Amino acid sequence: MNNVYYGKLIFELSKSGRVGYSLPKQEISGYSIDSLPEGLKRSQRTILPECDELTVVRHYTNMSNNNFGVDTGFYPLGSCTMKYNPKLNEELCSLPGFNCHPSVPTEYMQGSLKLYDEVQKTLSEIAGLSRFTLNPYAGAHGELTGLMVIKSYHLQRGDTLRTKIIVPNSAHGTNPASAAVAGFSVVEVKSLPDGTVDVEDLKPLLGPDVAGMMMTNPNTLGIFEHNIPGIARLIHECGGLMYYDGANLNPMLGVCRPGDMGFDVMHINLHKTFSTPHGGGGPGSGPVGVRKGLEHLLPNPQVVRNEDGKYNLLFDEKSLGSVSFFLGNFAVIIRTYAYLLSLGKENIPMAGKLSVLNANYIKESLKSHYLLPIEGLCKHEFVFDGLCPEYGGDHHDEGHVTTLDVAKRLLDYGFHAPTIYFPLLFHEALMIEPTETESKDMLDEFIEVMKKIALEARDNREMVRTAPHDTPIRRLDDVKAVKEPKFTFKSL
Ligand SMILES: *Cc1c(COP(=O)(O)O)cnc(C)c1O
Repeated sequence: MNNVYYGKLIFELSKSGRVGYSLPKQEISGYSIDSLPEGLKRSQRTILPECDELTVVRHYTNMSNNNFGVDTGFYPLGSCTMKYNPKLNEELCSLPGFNCHPSVPTEYMQGSLKLYDEVQKTLSEIAGLSRFTLNPYAGAHGELTGLMVIKSYHLQRGDTLRTKIIVPNSAHGTNPASAAVAGFSVVEVKSLPDGTVDVEDLKPLLGPDVAGMMMTNPNTLGIFEHNIPGIARLIHECGGLMYYDGANLNPMLGVCRPGDMGFDVMHINLHKTFSTPHGGGGPGSGPVGVRKGLEHLLPNPQVVRNEDGKYNLLFDEKSLGSVSFFLGNFAVIIRTYAYLLSLGKENIPMAGKLSVLNANYIKESLKSHYLLPIEGLCKHEFVFDGLCPEYGGDHHDEGHVTTLDVAKRLLDYGFHAPTIYFPLLFHEALMIEPTETESKDMLDEFIEVMKKIALEARDNREMVRTAPHDTPIRRLDDVKAVKEPKFTFKSL
């Protein structure tokens, strides 16, 4: 909708002297601007927009209409688990009774500590591990924390030679990054044509310098790593620990458990699997779980339940230290609690299984039009390698239609784009994760549109190559946007 507010900054709508709100009169007697010390006063007036209320309301409402979220439409962004976030969770996490401030005595926050402990216990049960910390703020932060657990484990045993972390080449980019930040050197292991870890490529990497191996399961291609028990044995035999990147836990819920597969440490993304709105970078929570014998290494503070049923905070001397402000992103933990209780033990496995069914339904329906590099059952997501050659996807042909073109054309049809050009194993990767929360009608509509785009790519290439046509802003120069970001209105 192109109106006078459209595409303008609030500063550009400003008119000197317009007012939308009156501040209350200064009520503290004896104090005024004049009583402030000179050094604390501004030397110039602040530049603030001056707008009437209606302008402000229209400006922000128009802006929100330009946004795309799970509440707007289908959001099949792979590796992100953009499931619907029940509004009930939002209500509950804003209840005023939750009190989790570090200077509040523990006897006044028993309810909050109980909630933390129950989430911790439920995650331990779901994962087949002994104990979780809910303190880390995100998946990558959980990885770093988990790798610090692995590091502390080796160092506290006096084993100082373990400097390597093995990471598959299909891993999420955060895996090697977290290992590097934790002070390890990263060694890459190759994948087989079926997308799983190449055990023969792994064997020569093993030795007394291996601290551990990170695995994602299902991996970033949506494929179950069926060699895990063998890999875990190899890593354990050489003295390393197994780390599970559990950001893809959604399809495994109530079906199988990382602890039973031989993993020692893992993280879970609450903001993916256990529902929290997380577009645009936040808020998140990346709890870290450990097997029996590693609990004391988890970050401080830990929440523990005493014999008398009271909850307390534990600061363990052997702990790797603190990784967050107090007990982490508490509102996300409350949302998780609400989500777990509303599904219940019977329905949690249903979420996982439906996410697998939905992904396979889309994959099978579209593989006639899009290249499927790895056949067979996928878990919650899968990857196409662009359009089939007969639909203009042949990348030996210079004017071929790319994955980027398909993603941009989807925007014209009101869908968020899938993940593109990740994982890096394929030239034209297009990664789709529908989640369990979409209806069959929505999946069918998406399938129909994807087929329509394939036909357009075959019959009217230029139209797809110049998409999007109906969005407020056409195709952006992504590189320029990253290299020359403009954050202030002055630079426009
Ligand atoms: C999302 C994701 C991460 C990182 O999680 P953040 O919360 O974004 O830091 C790590 N690994 C995998 C497989 C993921 O999908």
